[in-house]
Amino acid sequence: MAKTFKDLMEEARRAVPEWTIDQVREQIGEGSQHVLVDVREKDEYRDGHLPGAVSVPRGFLEIRVEQDIPDKSKPIIAYCAGGTRSLLAAKQLSDMGYQQVVSMRGGYSAWKGAGYPWKQDRQFSPDQLTRYSRHFLLPEVGEEGQARLLDAKVLLIGAGGLGSPTAFYLAAAGVGTLGLVDHDVVDLSNLQRQILHTNDRIGMPKVESARETLQALNPDVHIVGYRERLSSENALRLFAEYDVIVDGCDNFPTRYLVNDACVMLKKPNVHGSIFQFEGQASVFYPGKGPCYRCLFPEPPPPGAAPSCAEAGVLGVLPGLVGCVQALETIKLILGVGKPLIGRMVYFDTLSMELRIHKLRQDPNCPACGAHPTITQLIDYEEFCGLRNP
Ligand SMILES: [Zn+2]
Repeated sequence: MAKTFKDLMEEARRAVPEWTIDQVREQIGEGSQHVLVDVREKDEYRDGHLPGAVSVPRGFLEIRVEQDIPDKSKPIIAYCAGGTRSLLAAKQLSDMGYQQVVSMRGGYSAWKGAGYPWKQDRQFSPDQLTRYSRHFLLPEVGEEGQARLLDAKVLLIGAGGLGSPTAFYLAAAGVGTLGLVDHDVVDLSNLQRQILHTNDRIGMPKVESARETLQALNPDVHIVGYRERLSSENALRLFAEYDVIVDGCDNFPTRYLVNDACVMLKKPNVHGSIFQFEGQASVFYPGKGPCYRCLFPEPPPPGAAPSCAEAGVLGVLPGLVGCVQALETIKLILGVGKPLIGRMVYFDTLSMELRIHKLRQDPNCPACGAHPTITQLIDYEEFCGLRNP
C-alpha cells in the first residue's frame, strides 16, 4: 500500500530525534562538532539563516550532501522553516548512512522568533545571480565566496601583457575593486599581446583604456586607475589599500620594489614573469613562504637579462602566465585549494613542458629573513645598477 504523508512523518519521527531550539542552541556553542544543515530553498536561506549553516536545499539533498559533508559520522542538525521538511530530510540522511542526525523542531521561524542569532548573507541582484551562477554552483565558491570576491581589493602592477589577462579574468569573476598602476599610454606595439587595449585607443593612458574594457565587461567592478610609475615614494601608500598585489611588471627595479613593499606590509605578492617563449609564476606570501629575494638576493647585472622590448616575447605567453596569476589571486581570496606558495611553476611553451619547483625560504634573506637588512624602500634603479650613483 502506498504511504501517505502522515505515514512518512510518523516513520521519520520514529527514526529521527527532534531537538527544541534551546537544545540546538546549547549544542552549537564553541568547539561544537555539529554541522547545521539548512534544507530550505536557496531564497529562504538567503533571507536569513543560522550562523554557520550549510545550505543544502531538500531537492538537492541526495545529490549534494555527500560532497558537502563527506564524513558520515559527523553529527548533523537539520532545520527548515517549521520543522517538517527537515524531519523528512533528516530521515533521508540517516537512510544514506549519516549516523547522528537530528531535526530542529519549530525550524527557523521558531529560532528567529525567540530572538536567537541569525545571519543574512550578501543580497545579490537578479543580474548578479545570473552573472555569477556558475560560481554559485561550485561549493568551493558559492554565495559566500562570491561575496568575498566582490568585497576583495586587488592591485595590479602594470596594465600590459600580464596585467591584461589577469585584470580581464578578475573583473569577469567579480573581484569588486581592481586597482591598476601604470604610467604608460597604449602603443601599437603593445597590441600583439596586451589584450585590454584596442587599436582606436593608441595614445590613450593604459589605465583609462583598461577601465573602459573592464567596465564594459562587468559594471560590478570598481576600477581605480593610478596613472603613475610605481616608486619607493608611493608603493607603501598604494599597497596598504589592497588585499592582494599582482606583479605584472616587466623590469627588475619594480620587481624588487614590489617584493620589498609586500614583505613590509605582509601582503601576498602574486608573481609572474615572461621571457621570449618561457614564463614563470609563484605566490610570495610573507610569513607563509619565501619571497622573491630568497630566490634572487641580487639582481642580474644590467644588460644580462634583456627586456621583452629588447628580446621579444610570444604574444600568447603573457596570457598563459597572467591566467595563472588570476587563478592564484582568486584562490587566495576564497581560501580554497593549495596556493602556489613556496612553489614556482615554469612554462616552456616551445616544448610545452611545465615544471613546478619547490622553493625554500632563506633564513638569511635581507627582506624576509630573521634579521632583515632592508627595513625601508630603497633606490631600486640604483640597486639594479641602472643608475650611476
Ligand atoms: Zn625572502
